[in-house]
Amino acid sequence: MIWILLRLNLIRLNKTLFLPKVAIFVLLNRAMKGTVYKSTGSWYTVKAENGIFYECRIKGKFRIGGSKNTNPVSVGDHVYFKTETKGDETVGIIYEIDARENYIIRKSVKLAKQTQIIAANIDIAFLLVTLNNPATFTSFIDRFLVTAEAYSIKAVLLFNKVDTYNKEELEEIKYLAALYRNIGYECVAISAKTDKNIEKVKALMKQKVCMFSGHSGVGKSTLVNALEPGLNLKTSEISEQHQQGQHTTTFTQMYDLSFDSQIIDTPGIKGFGVVEMDEEELGDYFPEFFKLKQYCKFNNCLHIEEPKCGVKKALEKEEIAWSRYKSYLQMLEGEEEHYRIDNYGNE
Ligand code: GDP
Ligand code: ZN
Repeated sequence: MIWILLRLNLIRLNKTLFLPKVAIFVLLNRAMKGTVYKSTGSWYTVKAENGIFYECRIKGKFRIGGSKNTNPVSVGDHVYFKTETKGDETVGIIYEIDARENYIIRKSVKLAKQTQIIAANIDIAFLLVTLNNPATFTSFIDRFLVTAEAYSIKAVLLFNKVDTYNKEELEEIKYLAALYRNIGYECVAISAKTDKNIEKVKALMKQKVCMFSGHSGVGKSTLVNALEPGLNLKTSEISEQHQQGQHTTTFTQMYDLSFDSQIIDTPGIKGFGVVEMDEEELGDYFPEFFKLKQYCKFNNCLHIEEPKCGVKKALEKEEIAWSRYKSYLQMLEGEEEHYRIDNYGNE
């Protein structure tokens, strides 16, 4: 078993904005459908299809998309609930949740072998990449992409700060964008500062639930500000210190944006989740390796020393990128933690 661990700083949003309006007037006992915007573990803030936010609880065991399993509800879940009124308090009771398109997990802090669901039904995960200040290495990009593949989440690479690059650096961006486009990933060169291609990002985000990831300092807060000026993000460092200093508990939360899009913010969770997989599975999450697998002699080929390996052949012909193969070997060997520490001192 190998674990792919991704630790990125995710955006922190200003908590005072977009606070849900809790419904005061509700119809009793009407079944409603909604989406979970916030979860504290015992209370769930659900936005119903009528646009009103309801504070909900779970009662007893309930079914998930027809299965008999019980599972905690998470941000992004599509749920069914009914309202109940006791005295002057009205709460929603969640009784069923739809099957999840996907979900991202983290290892439980308390119980090492258990995992917790961070968020569900994510349409797009954007990774912000910068060449320097800070440097984003291909090994890091590849781990992000593997995780997204394993989660079945569409991944998009945003090469930020293009306003700062010289000719050589712009060439490097072009090279990287071509490399990843070739594999099938959408890539956009942007500047969160000068608004370059911000409209393109908005177009990709439309009617989608989105997440933004990337090293601290790549420009996540600046980008979200450019996308939705009212959000007024703090930089992650400041808000991290702030959180630690105040010992506040923050929760994953979904926010509506003005252009028909949602962002999921996971404060305090440095990561795009973790994925557990078997060795043989890893290559399947490199789409260009997966396509070549049919040419490998052994169907459980790890593409290392095996004879007649389609991936190695393509590599020798430079039809696939060495940087991708190197990332693959690193992940296979489970060296990602070392690699991350060596190269990303800021984390
Ligand atoms: P975060 O940690 O990912 O949220 O990064 P921030 O949004 O706080 O950005 C880190 C620094 O990079 C800030 O000083 C920003 O002004 C700067 N920055 C972000 N995007 C750009 C960009 O597109 N161009 C330039 N020149 N600077 C940027
Ligand atoms: Zn092979």
